[in-house]
Amino acid sequence: MNGIAPSSRLAPASRAHPANQQAAKERMLGRLAAAGHCASVLHAMGQIDRHNFVPPRLASKAYDESSLPIGFEQTISKPSMIARVLSLLIPEDAPSGFRLPGRVLEIGTGCGYQAAVLSKIATEVYSMERIKGLHECARDNLRELRLVNLHLLFGDGMAGYAKGAPYTAIVSAAAGAAIPNAWLEQLAVGGRIIAPTQSDTGHQLLMVLDKTATGIRQFALEAVRFVPLKSGTS
Ligand code: SAH
Repeated sequence: MNGIAPSSRLAPASRAHPANQQAAKERMLGRLAAAGHCASVLHAMGQIDRHNFVPPRLASKAYDESSLPIGFEQTISKPSMIARVLSLLIPEDAPSGFRLPGRVLEIGTGCGYQAAVLSKIATEVYSMERIKGLHECARDNLRELRLVNLHLLFGDGMAGYAKGAPYTAIVSAAAGAAIPNAWLEQLAVGGRIIAPTQSDTGHQLLMVLDKTATGIRQFALEAVRFVPLKSGTS
């Protein structure tokens, strides 16, 4: 009888053990590799501990294939969505260790996880968040990692961030009705925007916009579900 109580008390703590988290991370990476996700992105995801970016009570679910709440009614995207979005930044023939040149602007820092992964595949990253509490949460989550090429900004990302322009890429983690003009203006020629957009009926599509010397080329990819892109700060 006594043998049961201690082990059941120990179970939650042992699930959160660092070795278990590493094993869960390896399983996530294995699943994503088996699904054919880009090796450069998976290498970057392998360098960032996702369990440090979710609320502690959800740490044991951090590597599951699901989005998770991060507070303020926002969510961290599921691992395959982050791998998918970031892989759209990597050229097919990129050598291992490839880094996207120039600057990348991320709209929607959230808890900072995707920004941290981005910092491993891009030269310079600016990440903007409109909710002060999340901006501060990301700053706390990222402090120990000392990612010197990642700059967190507090503000409304719908206006982009002109001071860092032109950008090689702009990646949005939130879905708006349309791609803001500021993003198109701040994108370098040869650059790419990856953003979910939402129709009047509430359906979202992942969009890719490439800026060429002669104009914008736009592609609609698969249906997705992201939190809404909102204007202003809170
Ligand atoms: N990539 C994030 C996911 C965050 S969810 C992560 O790894 O955690 C999307 C985020 O976009 C939310 O935090 C939301 O507040 C933010 N957001 C929505 N509209 C925004 C805007 N106009 N400017 C900046 N951030 C915005």
